[in-house]
Amino acid sequence: MVSVAVQNELNVYESAEARFEVAAKKLGLEEGLYKYMKYPNKEITVYIPVAMDSGHLEVFIGYRVHHSIVRGPCKGGIRFAPDVTLDEVRALAAWMTWKCAVVNIPFGGAKGGVICDPSKLSNGEVERITRRYTAELSEWIGPERDVPAPDLGTNEQTMAWVMDTYSMHVRHTTTAVVTGKPFELGGSRGRKEATGRGCQIVCDKALTRLGRKRENTRVIVQGFGNVGSMAALLMYQAGYRIVGVADIHGALYNEKGFDIAALLDWVHGQHRPLPDFPAGGARLSTHDVLFQPCEILLPAAIENQLTSQNAHRVQALILCEGANGPTTAPADAVLEKKGVFVIPDILANAGGVTVSYFEWVQDRQGFFWRESEVNERLQDVMENSFDEVVRYAETHGVNNRIASYMLAIDRVAFALKLRGIYA
Ligand code: NAD
Repeated sequence: MVSVAVQNELNVYESAEARFEVAAKKLGLEEGLYKYMKYPNKEITVYIPVAMDSGHLEVFIGYRVHHSIVRGPCKGGIRFAPDVTLDEVRALAAWMTWKCAVVNIPFGGAKGGVICDPSKLSNGEVERITRRYTAELSEWIGPERDVPAPDLGTNEQTMAWVMDTYSMHVRHTTTAVVTGKPFELGGSRGRKEATGRGCQIVCDKALTRLGRKRENTRVIVQGFGNVGSMAALLMYQAGYRIVGVADIHGALYNEKGFDIAALLDWVHGQHRPLPDFPAGGARLSTHDVLFQPCEILLPAAIENQLTSQNAHRVQALILCEGANGPTTAPADAVLEKKGVFVIPDILANAGGVTVSYFEWVQDRQGFFWRESEVNERLQDVMENSFDEVVRYAETHGVNNRIASYMLAIDRVAFALKLRGIYA
C-alpha cells in the first residue's frame, strides 16, 4: 500500500505548488499577488458526447485550465490520456505560465486534457472527440485568447482538426489558433525537433559549466516519443554517447552507446518494440534504467519518475528534465544533497513552447522562416534563459529549480503590477 505521504508526493499539483510556495517566500511576494498567481484564472470542464464506431453513444470528460493571461494569451498543450485529472491539468497550466516567463515569451499558461485512451480508439473516434472538445471550447480559445498545442496522446493531426473546427466556427481559416500543426497548414519548420533541440542546447551549456566534453558524456533518455527521440537523435548526432533508452515497453542499456538513427527507424519507421532493437544491450525496466551509470539523465516520458524514495539511486551529474514534472518536490532535496546539476523542466523543455511562439508569430505574419533561422533564434532563447536561471540561482543562493520559479514569478508579478487589477 502506498502511504498517504507518498500519495501526496505524487500529486503533481502539490509538487508544483510546493515549489511555487518556496519561490514566492524567497521573493517576499506580497500576499495579494501571491494569491492571484497561486490560483488559476479559469477552469472549464466539458462533457463530450461522441458517437462511437459501434453505434453507441459515449461521453468523455475534458478540461481546459487557464492559469494566467497576465503576460499574453494563454498557451498550453492538450493531453489525451486515461489518467488525466483536473489537478494534473491545473499543475500543467501553472507550469506553462512559469515556463513562458522563464524563456520570456509573451504568453501566459494553460493546459487541456481529455480522459480517454487514444490507443483503444479508432482514428474517427479520436477525431470526433477532438472536434467536439474544440467546439465546446470555441469561445475560450483563439489566437488572442488561448493557443493549444500537442501533448501526450495528441499530435500534428489532432492540431489540424482543432484548427479546422475552430475555423469553421469563426468562418475563416485561423491557423494561429493552435501550434504544432503540420507544416502545410501553417506549422513551423523545426517545431517537431524543438523540445529535443532545446534539451540539447541546455545540456551543452551545463557541460561547459562543468568543464566536460560531449564525447565523454553518457546519456540515458527515458521516453522515445517526440521529446525523447528527438533529444536522443540530436545529442547522438552532436557526439554524445546515448547509453540508455526507454519507452513504455521497456528499456535498453549499453555502455558502448546506441546508433540512435537506426533505433529511430526501428521504432518509428518500422513500428517495432524498442526493447527488441537487434543491436541492443541489456534489457531493463523503464524505471530501472534511470539509475544506471551516466553523466546526463534525461527523463522525457511522464511525471513522478524521481521521488524521495528513489532519487538517491540517480548516478548522473546532470538531470535534464525533458518531461514535465518527472521529479517530485521532496526529491529535489535528495538531488541537491547529491550535488546533481538540475536543469528544471520549465527551462529544459521550453524549446517546444518557444518554437510554438515562433509558429504563432509566423502564422500571424503569413511569412515563414527558414529552418536555420528558427534554430538560431531557439538557440539564443535557450542559452540566454539558461544563463539567467543559473545567475539567479547564484545571486540568491538557491537551486536551479527554485531560481527558475523565482525568475518566472518575478516577471509575472512585475507585469501584473504594471497592468493593475481591473475591478
Ligand atoms: P509522446 O506521447 O510523443 O511520447 C511519450 C513517450 O513516453 C513514449 O515513448 C512512450 O512510450 C513513453 N511512455 C509513456 N508512458 C510511459 C511510462 N509509464 N513509462 C515510461 N515511458 C512511458 O509525448 P512527448 O510529446 O514526447 O511528451 C513527453 C513529455 O514531455 C511529457 O511530459 C510532455 O508533457 C513533455 N513535453 C512535451 C513537449 C512537446 O513539445 N512534445 C514540450 C514540453 C514538454
